[in-house]
Amino acid sequence: MSDIIHLLPDSVANQIAAGEVIQRPASVLKELVENSIDAGATFIQIVIKDAGRTLIQVVDNGKGMSETDARMAFERHATSKIKSADDLFALRTMGFRGEALASIAAVAQVELRTRRTDDELGVLIDVAGTRVFKQESVQCDTGTSFQIKNLFFNVPARRRFLKSDNVEKSHILTEFYRIALVNSNVSFSFLDGDDEIFNLPASNNKVRIESIFGKNAKKKWQQQLLNIETSTNLVSIYGYVGKPEYAQKSANQYFFVNGRYMRHPYFHKAVLLAYNQMIQASESPNYFIYFEVDPQTIDINIHPTKTEIKFENEQAIWSILSAAIKEALGKFNIVPSIDFDQEGAVDMPTRMPVENVRPPQTNFNPNYNPFGNSGYKRPTLDWEDLYGGFEKKAEPASSSIDWESNIDSPVSPTFSSIEKQQEIEHTESARTENFQYKNRFILTGIKSGLLMIDQQRAHTRILFDLFMTQMEKSHGLTQQVLFPETLELSADDDLFFEQILPDLQRVGFDLEPLGNQSYSVNGIPAQLGTSSVINLLLDMLEKAKTTAQDPTASIHESISLTLAEASSLKAGQRLSNEEMSDLIDRLFACANYNFTPDGKKIVSTFTLEELEKRF
Ligand code: ADP
Ligand code: MG
Repeated sequence: MSDIIHLLPDSVANQIAAGEVIQRPASVLKELVENSIDAGATFIQIVIKDAGRTLIQVVDNGKGMSETDARMAFERHATSKIKSADDLFALRTMGFRGEALASIAAVAQVELRTRRTDDELGVLIDVAGTRVFKQESVQCDTGTSFQIKNLFFNVPARRRFLKSDNVEKSHILTEFYRIALVNSNVSFSFLDGDDEIFNLPASNNKVRIESIFGKNAKKKWQQQLLNIETSTNLVSIYGYVGKPEYAQKSANQYFFVNGRYMRHPYFHKAVLLAYNQMIQASESPNYFIYFEVDPQTIDINIHPTKTEIKFENEQAIWSILSAAIKEALGKFNIVPSIDFDQEGAVDMPTRMPVENVRPPQTNFNPNYNPFGNSGYKRPTLDWEDLYGGFEKKAEPASSSIDWESNIDSPVSPTFSSIEKQQEIEHTESARTENFQYKNRFILTGIKSGLLMIDQQRAHTRILFDLFMTQMEKSHGLTQQVLFPETLELSADDDLFFEQILPDLQRVGFDLEPLGNQSYSVNGIPAQLGTSSVINLLLDMLEKAKTTAQDPTASIHESISLTLAEASSLKAGQRLSNEEMSDLIDRLFACANYNFTPDGKKIVSTFTLEELEKRF
């Protein structure tokens, strides 16, 4: 039998190789623009027609090519950017594989015009399907112009794989953003047919970000970016992260290293964790983060179209990144917090946190309802109260409400003397000028302006922190129930329930196993204010199960949040001045008082400056 292996002709080999590098018009755009950047261009003009199917043109004012180089550029593995394997570890250019132009020329009709500054004449080369059709001297500007026409003209199968114009255009824009955002010192003009879709003068990163994404919402973008900057001998990190309240479902998230876009799931996690509890799980923050590292410490030589990059010092950089973001968020989070605008003001942080107190056994009078007819009478408010409250003497301590016990709950624990003491201290500081709006928001003055607080969310945050502490450090109070209900579980659920049972006991549930995957609910957390305990337990179980599937999510947080939401004071509930002060007091004793655990905003600040501007 004769031998059967033979080498493929160049045209076929190139076409196969092109499949790797050039998948769609967006890949062509990426390769050409990256070449222009590598050639030192300061101005790059892009023109596409029919979503790049019929034309992709990239014109630059970079260093241009000699006639020989222009011809060589279309050969496979022809590059001016590296000479040996060693150079791979000191890369400063976007390209280095020498494959792109060969690949493009294998699957499209290419016209190249290029001239170096010192050359009198430039060169024109026409190539299509790897064959050179024309090569001649021409008059042309310094720099390089590539026209790529009729992409995949000779590969119908690939052409058929292309998606609708809109989809292809969005791929093109994705690639464009990845380059334009990290080359803000380069001017770009971008024409889609006759429409100019971008005209970006050379500027800085911030202006570039705003002019790309803030086109229709410029104001918003200027307000939302928080600066991050840190420099160590391992890495310099700078850029911008979005304020939590601008988080969105499909956020703009960009990492760059040494001028190159990268994906980095591990660092991405660091960013998300820094926002922990500030944003909803379904949303994600915007970020534009630029890393500079010694090129020897990264490996970008993984795959021509992959954007993952390996870092030698990944863990250390993770921590540096995380700290930088937390610092930026922390700075911004410092709402004019503790400078309340009254004398002898609420100095809550010095108050002994309730969670450090191990509560003694409590006694209950199950028939006592502090809000029932015979019990405590809620103080009502009117304008006199609201504005006179500041001058007035505080109400006696006994009439103040403990927020950790829900006002609707049928029974209320008697407090230990320590807690009483705290209540008194608190009430004395409650000579605050608060105003409840729509029975939903609390308005309170601070030195530098006005705070508006969502009462339900504030209470959710307070209770969440309390339940978390109880689960992890102390122990919650139990209120025994008069008529225990029975919780019945499937075998599956029961297995999981047993795992979270100790946590539930710590927050105050008294659950007695009855066998057969059933439990008698003999007692519930003192703070709990729900009529349907069984439903709550099932809900909590369900959410905790989902949480358990995510290794980074915390079951304690899931349980605490479900409980806090079920127990929190609701909108529509009228509050006395003292109740409001107490709520504010406890809210600002929380480490993260600006957001609910699931990232909803609790406090909004109107600065004095903003208020004055209105008049
Ligand atoms: P690579 O970028 O990996 O080197 P390419 O196939 O993209 O490979 O380009 C081959 C070579 O052609 C480059 O190394 C460079 O020398 C030259 N070249 C390509 N585009 C330009 C350009 N716009 N300006 C100047 N030289 C260019
Ligand atoms: Mg290249």
